[in-house]
Amino acid sequence: MSEETRSKNFIENIIDKDLAEGKYEKIVTRFPPEPNGYLHIGHAKSILLNYGIAQEYGGQFNFRFDDTNPTKEDEEFVNSIIEDIKWLGADFGGKVLYASDYFDKMYEVAIKLIKKGKAYVDDLSAQEIREYRGTLTEPGKNSPYRDRSVEENLKLFEEMKDGVYEDGAKVLRAKIDMASPNINMRDPVIYRIARMTHHNTGDKWLIYPMYDFAHPLEDAFEGITHSLCTLEFEDHRPLYDWVVQEAEFENPPKQIEFAKLYLTNVVTGKRYIKKLVEDGVVDGWDDPRLVSLAALRRRGFTPSSIKTFMELSGISKSQSSCDYAMLEYCIREDLKPKAPRYMGVLRPLKLIIDNYPEGQTEEFEIENNSDDPDAGMRKITFSRELYIEQDDFMEEPPKKYFRLFPGNEVRLKGAYFVKCTGCDKDAEGNIIAVHGTYDPETRSGSGFEGRKVKGTIHWVNAADAIDAEVRLYENLIDEEKGKLNDDGTLNFNPNSLEVLESKLEAASADFKPGDHVQFIRNGYFVVDTKDSTPDHMVFNRVVGLKSSYKPA
Ligand code: ATP
Ligand code: MG
Repeated sequence: MSEETRSKNFIENIIDKDLAEGKYEKIVTRFPPEPNGYLHIGHAKSILLNYGIAQEYGGQFNFRFDDTNPTKEDEEFVNSIIEDIKWLGADFGGKVLYASDYFDKMYEVAIKLIKKGKAYVDDLSAQEIREYRGTLTEPGKNSPYRDRSVEENLKLFEEMKDGVYEDGAKVLRAKIDMASPNINMRDPVIYRIARMTHHNTGDKWLIYPMYDFAHPLEDAFEGITHSLCTLEFEDHRPLYDWVVQEAEFENPPKQIEFAKLYLTNVVTGKRYIKKLVEDGVVDGWDDPRLVSLAALRRRGFTPSSIKTFMELSGISKSQSSCDYAMLEYCIREDLKPKAPRYMGVLRPLKLIIDNYPEGQTEEFEIENNSDDPDAGMRKITFSRELYIEQDDFMEEPPKKYFRLFPGNEVRLKGAYFVKCTGCDKDAEGNIIAVHGTYDPETRSGSGFEGRKVKGTIHWVNAADAIDAEVRLYENLIDEEKGKLNDDGTLNFNPNSLEVLESKLEAASADFKPGDHVQFIRNGYFVVDTKDSTPDHMVFNRVVGLKSSYKPA
């Protein structure tokens, strides 16, 4: 979509207004993942939104790990997230930021709050804090420790930091309002004691800041102007604003919420993907049936197809689900002009041309991509024994079946017309080979105009075709029957992966892991980056050729 035709989203409207009022000199946005899982398609929405806005306004895009919680963080996730962001092309200026680098500054803010009488050390247990908090309909109660003196709070907080107390024995709480209708404002805990080793700060800290306190400070320290997050943080915004105001930032960041991206028939949400991986339902975080970015990449989606998808799906304030078919549409459009078009027989059946001389081979030149004249030509070979798709032959065809059946003639793509004469069967009656005769007059490129045939089928030369494993995918979740089973478990589609032993035209051997190809009539494929080897090539189907989605 071009800039001129796209109307601005509500976030851009807010930024335009802020700029018109002279609130900011430069727009600074950020993407702040928690390193506790792989990124998924939903995160791509947030990355491309934040990066896109920074670019559009000539601003800055920060990439920062929200690594304030030492329990879940993992080096493997840190590395995969960096790789994913680079792959998407979101330029963060080469600098990876870590929230944990601000632990000292956060501690100083906590001290400042205590000195202002805006924070206190509480001895209530986690359970008691919950009980005192009240409910949506009832106000909370003040903790008996709420009115400790500034001096006592300073001393106790320092002792918390120095390891005088056990985990959970004390917390630091913001002193806001236990009767607030917004439960997030009822004296939220802002620091806890946790004797844990942090992946970045090691054993330096025995206390760690809570997310709602840390996050607005991280944004403010970096001079983020617009902190874009998803709707579940809307109720946290008053606390976000309270923190940056009490910390006395001059031009604090503005939090704006937008709706998460959800896709039909797929599992988004780190927690759920993690469970599928742990339960062995899929083979790792990059299983091509998942929508983690690692999985989409392995499945053959390109960064530009994901970008187009995000533009089409738009930015909104209200929750909705996008059709997976729209994502498929985007990759199809992206690959159409780029991917060469080859012949590959997914479910092979021998076709024997009985009147073609045994031992003879001839070559044909065919276009690499009929939509792209610059893509050039390549050679394919033809001989007496070929492979065709099993379903391109029927002994007793229904009406309107124009492919091979006894007595019918079809065009073999780029080669000759062939007329079917019959088939061979094994003892059980399975069809094991089809027979036919070719007409030398009909050679492709000869200008033959004698008669027409209704069907054209693809084929490969048995003598030099390569064997390859082809993986076909369907949605992991069967939403037609309902996303969840009666017992609350996910309703899996038993056919989400089909593995085929296929025959591909010889030139396919030159493809490298990550290369795309269209196997005509069968869809777009990518060479698997994990399992494919020169001796045993593996192709993943990215998407079929037919679309159930039409752009508005
Ligand atoms: P999940 O809900 O999948 O577990 P998360 O929100 O816990 O993800 P974070 O690492 O905290 O993951 O998210 C980083 C950023 O990505 C946050 O700003 C979050 O709002 C955003 N984000 C997460 N999921 C989506 C989504 N489905 N659509 C758009 N943005 C998302
Ligand atoms: Mg989160």
